[in-house]
Amino acid sequence: MDSRNKSEIIIQGIAASRGIAYGQAFLYLQSELEIPRYTVDPDKRVAEIARFEQALVVTRQQISKIQAQVTQNLGEEEALIFDAHQMVLEDQALIGETIRDFQKSGLNIETCFNAVAERYIRAFAEIDDEYLRERAADIKDVAKRVLHVLLGQAAMSLTELVDKRIIVAHDVSPSEAAGIDRSAALAIVTDAGSRTSHAVIVARSMKIPAVVGTRDLTKKIKNGDWLMVDGYEGIIIVNPSEQTLFRYGKIQKAKKSFESRLMSVNDMAAETADGVKVTLRANIEKPDEVALVKEYHAQGVGLYRTEFLFLSSTKIPTEEQQYAAYKEIVAGLAPAPVTIRTLDVGGDKPLPGDPHLIGPEANPFLGFRAIRMCLENPEMFKNQLRAILRASAHGSVELMYPMISGADELDRANAMLEEAKADLKKRGQPFDEKMKVGTMIEIPSAALAGDVLAEKCDFFSIGTNDLIQYLLAIDRGNNRIAHLYDPAHPAVLRVLKQVVETGHAHGRKVSVCGEMAGDSVYVPLLLGLGVDELSMTPTLLPAVKFLIRAMKMSDAKKLAEEALKQTDPKKTFALIEAFYNQHVKSE
Ligand code: PEP
Ligand code: MG
Repeated sequence: MDSRNKSEIIIQGIAASRGIAYGQAFLYLQSELEIPRYTVDPDKRVAEIARFEQALVVTRQQISKIQAQVTQNLGEEEALIFDAHQMVLEDQALIGETIRDFQKSGLNIETCFNAVAERYIRAFAEIDDEYLRERAADIKDVAKRVLHVLLGQAAMSLTELVDKRIIVAHDVSPSEAAGIDRSAALAIVTDAGSRTSHAVIVARSMKIPAVVGTRDLTKKIKNGDWLMVDGYEGIIIVNPSEQTLFRYGKIQKAKKSFESRLMSVNDMAAETADGVKVTLRANIEKPDEVALVKEYHAQGVGLYRTEFLFLSSTKIPTEEQQYAAYKEIVAGLAPAPVTIRTLDVGGDKPLPGDPHLIGPEANPFLGFRAIRMCLENPEMFKNQLRAILRASAHGSVELMYPMISGADELDRANAMLEEAKADLKKRGQPFDEKMKVGTMIEIPSAALAGDVLAEKCDFFSIGTNDLIQYLLAIDRGNNRIAHLYDPAHPAVLRVLKQVVETGHAHGRKVSVCGEMAGDSVYVPLLLGLGVDELSMTPTLLPAVKFLIRAMKMSDAKKLAEEALKQTDPKKTFALIEAFYNQHVKSE
């Protein structure tokens, strides 16, 4: 029977990759592995460890094979995730702990390995950071492969997908996601997942829609059911009616023409209608995002969050490892500048490499975070400073400190930077002597006493995410009070104005690298307040550029003046939203 005659069901998930797709579901149901539990005779224990080591070797070979296939079919970048998987397999902590558990308990190696892997997965999954939580998926993925090998079972795959179908799965593991045939998948929908899961990263790179977090869609539909996937609003419509199909046909047309309007300015200058050039840069977290920076024509990187290198590993990266990652980005983008931010862990980002370094705190956002932790761990901090300095020899680097609250911290950080420079001179390693050093302005004390900091650094970069959180006392990750987190609050506007004026009075460039910079509605306000540079997620660049090209800077200045006079954030927002709508309409 044609499932289009069945009644329509609407399911709300999380919009993860933009676009609309209509087609039949390919229901991908993975079965759970059953792991036997038994005691290994003492005389067979050496052989049991050898069996484990052999399984690791076989898994490594399997992964290399898939990696080669994926490189050939989808490209090198897509295949990079398998490097992360090989690293999990080489993780001495994971392997060592499994063997120790086995020696202690005498239980079969599958049981011990599964227990240790689950401990790791839980530790990552508990991290209050969406991206890192998803890295638990890498460990889960690899552990599953190892267990399949140990149990002599073939691992499942998504290769059965042959038609143009919508993949519907409980979750899609990183290696499964990387193996999806681009020409066969219309969209990806998962019960689980978040905006940063691998399924989503792959969907975005394939430019197909994705909706995640649908909870139990896999239980509600059958293979072959007709689905409408709305990757803009995060909606799945099962068995869409003729009316819905018609409505979506119109939506799709309008969205497509709006997006192609935005993309039409992708390689054009970010220049206002009255001739003012604006610098637009990208925020990145990993070296493989260099390609996106280029694709969206960002004028370099305004914020490279180095902590992701520290957070994605169970060990603190060495100076050499950091240097390799930083150099890859800097050389890859040279001569465009790359602003490397020193380690910002703590708060919502605990350090898995050494959890004791920060430890549990009653108020982590007000605690031992970022520069505070680095200044108390000078050897670790200087390793990073040396790695950044060494990368500066390969292009144009700016260094920036997070969470500076006052002059003393900036002095101490700069003193350590001088020591790092002296170390490199002693070693005879080159670096850029003129590397600029900036301060993030994301704590109210730094914003209000900016004049003191301006004397001691070359530029300011406003981190609106934290600045608003600390100014309004709203935990940025707490859903219950999320409605109070308001960039249009008069206090926010006044502080932004003050920081820009202070920076400019001292001849310092002032940029914004918080989420506000990539939110087109707020862009005219920021520019009208005098912000020199905006840095954002690369994919947001065309929308921001489109708006900049459509507006006049003189009008943005008037808008900022008007906005500063308002006392009610709702009215302020209405004002800036009207400005946005006037310049950018999605017909
Ligand atoms: C900010 O606080 O605005 C910022 C850019 O830093 P992060 O989001 O990494 O804290
Ligand atoms: Mg911040």
